[in-house]
Amino acid sequence: NVHAAAARVRTTCPYCGVGCGVEATPDGRGGTSIAGDASHPANAGRLCSKGSALGETLGLETRLLHPIVDGARSTWDVALSRTAQGLQRVIERYGPDAVAFYLSGQLLTEDYYVANKLMKGFIGSANVDTNSRLCMASTVAGHRLAFGSDTVPGCYEDLDEADLLVLVGSNAAWCHPVLYQRMALARERRGARIVTIDVRGTATTESADLALTIQPGMDGVLFSGLLAHLADRGAVDRAYVAAHTENFDAALAQARRIAPDVATTAARCGVAPADIASFFDLWRKTARVATLYSQGVNQSWQGTDKVVSILNCHLATGRIARPGMGPFSLTGQPNAMGGREVGGLANQLAAHMGFSSAEIDRVARFWRAPHIAKREGLKAVAMFDAIACGEIKALWIMGSNPAVSLPRADHARAALSRLDLLVISDNVRSTDTIAAGAHVLLPAAAWGEKDGTVTNSERRISRQRPFAPLAGEAKPDWWATAQVAARMGFADAFDYAGPAMIFREHAALSAFENDRARDFDIGGLAELSDAAYDALAPTQWPAPVSAPGGRKRMFADGRFFTPSGRARFGVIAPPSLAAAPSAEFPFLLNTGRLRDQWHTMTRTGLSPRLASHSPDPFVEVNPDDARGLSLIEGGFARVSTAHGSVVLRVAVTNAQHRGRAFVPIHWSDETGNVARVGALVHAFTDPVSGQPDSKAVPAALAPV
Ligand code: SF4
Repeated sequence: NVHAAAARVRTTCPYCGVGCGVEATPDGRGGTSIAGDASHPANAGRLCSKGSALGETLGLETRLLHPIVDGARSTWDVALSRTAQGLQRVIERYGPDAVAFYLSGQLLTEDYYVANKLMKGFIGSANVDTNSRLCMASTVAGHRLAFGSDTVPGCYEDLDEADLLVLVGSNAAWCHPVLYQRMALARERRGARIVTIDVRGTATTESADLALTIQPGMDGVLFSGLLAHLADRGAVDRAYVAAHTENFDAALAQARRIAPDVATTAARCGVAPADIASFFDLWRKTARVATLYSQGVNQSWQGTDKVVSILNCHLATGRIARPGMGPFSLTGQPNAMGGREVGGLANQLAAHMGFSSAEIDRVARFWRAPHIAKREGLKAVAMFDAIACGEIKALWIMGSNPAVSLPRADHARAALSRLDLLVISDNVRSTDTIAAGAHVLLPAAAWGEKDGTVTNSERRISRQRPFAPLAGEAKPDWWATAQVAARMGFADAFDYAGPAMIFREHAALSAFENDRARDFDIGGLAELSDAAYDALAPTQWPAPVSAPGGRKRMFADGRFFTPSGRARFGVIAPPSLAAAPSAEFPFLLNTGRLRDQWHTMTRTGLSPRLASHSPDPFVEVNPDDARGLSLIEGGFARVSTAHGSVVLRVAVTNAQHRGRAFVPIHWSDETGNVARVGALVHAFTDPVSGQPDSKAVPAALAPV
């Protein structure tokens, strides 16, 4: 990808939700040097192994460089017309709900906004969902239940200022490395303590001051026990609870039913009572507590309840929205937050608005939408079920690889072959999803070429700026969507000159006259000139007209976005597994990320340096289990569930407790490993968030 030498460009890393600032400097000989941006508040110049290797992933060898229609090279004009006509044909014949978009936390906010607008305002269906459903939908649901809005209360500075950092279901040392470095620094400099709560040993648990290895699915028991303990020891902030919350008594009564004391909590969590007591004491006695949680909490059929059980403890002690205190969701993807902001989930409309008649009316008027969606659409798992049973006939996938990443991935892959029209926008020419048989392939701009914004885990909007020309005939996703919209007869509403114009529209839609009316308001950024947009400094929303510079913490005044203005305690269901181990499937299979790979490896797989960390897919098992099954280190095991089976190299480790196994998510048929772990995962979903459960799947292991 040789292009002219250019001055240093400040942009944002395309991987995890930390959202590190990156400085990219093309050398004019095909290389680009990468460094951390010292001026970016998220990382202050630090990068992890993945971010540092970005310069090794910019080659064109795997790129999709031109449109393909029905397997043959085509032109943009033909591909766009085929897409528009195909969508129209399905809408005319079967109605708008026979069409769906499946988007990605990898998309920029501007791409997401335009796709969401086309589907929800002009096609007239809310069947827009995203791979972020697999990432943090349970956090969204928990936030909305407790706060009345999907609001991250705190900021990264809280991690520097906390005296106790509790990591729940999070291997931050590998999955959010730069934030973990901040936490490690807080411990080194200020004596902050780190507690981990996980079902396995990880790089993060290894270095913790206290590591609780709990039974899978029992997070809600642990935090119910903590709430009961706080109440028993007089540690509830009664004044805060009385002034700013509701439903405390009901939540506490349920917590006491689930885990009335240390002994019960310890027994159900499978942890020594002394360790539970230490954790409860530490939490109770430390004012500045930040509880950080990630996919171990979210990816559960009770994910929303797990989130709520954590929020309950912070609300009960008033430890929220103050320096060093609060619950904090570590977002997996680089722009899962931006997708939430534009409404890129099937249960949102736009700009954090839902489907009340006032919100529908407001969005319809703003967009001048001829066919506004009036009700929620299908969430990811339900969307692919609707494809499988023929209810959805046309699907447009952007920047995602659901044939690898969705639960019951074989079912998802087979469903794709039933579609009358499958359009895929991607920047690589070959993925398992593409191999399932796309009718139209649209070459998308990649990192380094993209121009727009992303939002990280602390609500900070940052620019992703281009430093390389578009490769081949690649185009931004917003452009392709707008072109299809124009061919469907909506040219006026999609006549965008560039990403700045889209961002201004998005910001204007979010603006309310009363700044206190809602959480997501970036109306103060709605008048940015193109130059000001290009130069936009990283800004934490909200950024309303009255305070466009952004805000660090929310809810500091004790007012929430519920109808009463009070935070709501949640009453959780009794914690349990979606499916218990059986004689046929006696293990509980857990899935997760590795330090040096990202998603299905379409970018990180290009870096030999990153690949060397863990070259092959594997399954981790406990030494006793390995002995019992005659599995040997470095040998091979067949891992089977009710949904599929794969063969993986065996890694014997004490990091796994007996009866549990762990497999990384990254490999696929396209990587040559035939190890699509998604094919093993069951499709139980959280009843509120719709997020699938991928951390505790009954499985069998056998030597090969
Ligand atoms: Fe990129 Fe995340 Fe690493 Fe930062 S921590 S460099 S955002 S992968």
